[in-house]
Amino acid sequence: MVRIPPHVPGLDNPVKQRPEDEKYDIGVIGLGPAGVTAACELVRYGYSVVAIEKETIGGLIHYARAVDNFPGISPSSPGQVVVDMLWQHMGGFPPKVVNAEVTGIYTTGSGYDISLGESAITVKSIILATGTIPDRLEVPGEDLPWVHHIWTDVDVGEDALVAVIGGGDVAADQALSLNENGKQILMMLKSGVPRCNLVLQSDMEVMEDFIIASGIDVLRFEDRNG
Ligand SMILES: Cc1cc2nc3c(=O)[nH]c(=O)nc-3n(C[C@H](O)[C@H](O)[C@H](O)COP(=O)(O)OP(=O)(O)OC[C@H]3O[C@@H](n4cnc5c(N)ncnc54)[C@H](O)[C@@H]3O)c2cc1C
Repeated sequence: MVRIPPHVPGLDNPVKQRPEDEKYDIGVIGLGPAGVTAACELVRYGYSVVAIEKETIGGLIHYARAVDNFPGISPSSPGQVVVDMLWQHMGGFPPKVVNAEVTGIYTTGSGYDISLGESAITVKSIILATGTIPDRLEVPGEDLPWVHHIWTDVDVGEDALVAVIGGGDVAADQALSLNENGKQILMMLKSGVPRCNLVLQSDMEVMEDFIIASGIDVLRFEDRNG
């Protein structure tokens, strides 16, 4: 669910209640950091902007344990701090915000209809800011209930052993979050050392119950209980 702050008009005003003839210059789809930045900048230049977000304003940065590469954020802070900054920014240059999933985009004579399932919004131009989705390994068993692709899904006991596959920035950030929350971590790498940034590498070096194993190629997931 999207949080509804008092300073961002439109969030509590579903598109179905909008007058049928209302049109916008630009539709921004997705309100992660990219979408928020684009939408506010366009409002700042006088365009009428509708911004459509299916989940939570802020996108993936919500999940970050420690952000230390955004200019203006020092020392490093949780991703929620960036999310709060995005909310604050939207208060200054508010687009019309709609909490819905975009299910299709159709061309019209003079622009586009953005479909939200049962309703649609007409715009002249569109900015797609729908972000990324986690990589999949595409191996058997990947959809078993205990195989997760983002850390908020992980619901295991306090001292459980969690295998984290990969050693990039997001994997390292998530592994550190889990470790700080009492989980034992086995980070599995195909080869070499984690390719995450040096700050994350040195954070991982000093953690307890945090093992990094190289030379592992994950071929399948199997349920031990059959
Ligand atoms: C654990 C973790 C830690 C990270 N740490 C850092 C860090 O320290 N520093 C850093 O720079 N980056 C970090 N990142 C990466 C950063 O979060 C992303 O680069 C950034 O969020 C990308 O912004 P975006 O707006 O392009 O996309 P996203 O943040 O992915 O936002 C896209 C938005 O579009 C919405 N959307 C998608 N499809 C639809 C649809 N059909 N209809 C409506 N809405 C839709 C989604 O719900 C989402 O809110 C981290 C990411 C993760 C997961």
